[in-house]
Amino acid sequence: MTTTTPIATHYEQFLHLLSGDTEDSGATRGTGDPRDTRDAAPGRDVLPARYGERIDASGATQAIVMSRDEWILNQIDLTLALGRLLGEDDVVVSAVPYELSFIGAEMDRVIEMVGASVISVGTSRTICPMERLLALIEQYQVTALVCAPSFAAELASLALARGQRPQDSTIRTVVCVGEASSTERLDRIGATWAATTTTLYGTPATPTAAVPCEHGALHLCEHRLRAEADGHPRGELLLDGSPTGELVELRAAGSGCDCGSANRVLVPLGSTAAALPGPHGLISAVDVERIAFRQTALTPHFACTVQDGAFHVTCAVTEAEAPAGGALAQAIRGEIGDALGVAAEVTVVDAKDWSTATS
Ligand SMILES: [Zn+2]
Repeated sequence: MTTTTPIATHYEQFLHLLSGDTEDSGATRGTGDPRDTRDAAPGRDVLPARYGERIDASGATQAIVMSRDEWILNQIDLTLALGRLLGEDDVVVSAVPYELSFIGAEMDRVIEMVGASVISVGTSRTICPMERLLALIEQYQVTALVCAPSFAAELASLALARGQRPQDSTIRTVVCVGEASSTERLDRIGATWAATTTTLYGTPATPTAAVPCEHGALHLCEHRLRAEADGHPRGELLLDGSPTGELVELRAAGSGCDCGSANRVLVPLGSTAAALPGPHGLISAVDVERIAFRQTALTPHFACTVQDGAFHVTCAVTEAEAPAGGALAQAIRGEIGDALGVAAEVTVVDAKDWSTATS
């Protein structure tokens, strides 16, 4: 990175904020490091800072209030992780949810803290539709995209449809958030943009729950979160005892990654509602994705839903490959059955028809 000064400066300010010596908060900390909240003084960590909402398993909207400590500590962990990937020379597009969520505001602050410039476009596509975003990328020589894998795939597809070559754009980093994805598909997205891909992991209530190390593995922020999986080797993620609706695998420190981090590795597998029982345990859409992307002809698009106890998978190929789509779908269906022991309906469409095929 070009310099660490901006991070250090903001980090100091944050630590001062957390030190608890402000006038309205006389509480003190049990340890010397304010990042360690496990033995925080009672009540100190509940000062509200932000309001957000999440959708629960029944589809109802639930309010979430984040305390000031949580809010700042989430930002510090994300800043330290992104500081390894981005620097002062980066121009970053943040295409993550902003309205009634935490991740958009957090991402803005973090990008500023690492010293990079940010263009916040959100995900509503009203003020900044994808066509406009492509123009902004060119005009401002954008070097990094922060978005869901599906968004990166769709943007590349639109660029291609407009006669542009995403691999020749100025984008060199794609930071994937908000959607569990297999390494295989992330590699396909990276190849399409000729960029390095990395992932972040959070939930609506905890926008930064795991951050990537230099090897790309997601390590849990265990210095401030108590994480468990309701099952082994995979199960629903519980954060500080609360179910998240997210299926994960948690791997012991040292066995999931050899970077030396003392924090366990988390492998996101999508929502528990989108998983099905297989012969040896739960099968997720990420497992299905991993099998599908063995096919080199696929573009980075991918959709997988669960209907009537079966996976319904939609993949896409380029126009030139479209005539072989039926045979390809059959091959993918066979491989999913052989590798995972579950049934899947597979459709392969021309990438230019993606939005109508999956809407
Ligand atoms: Zn690691």
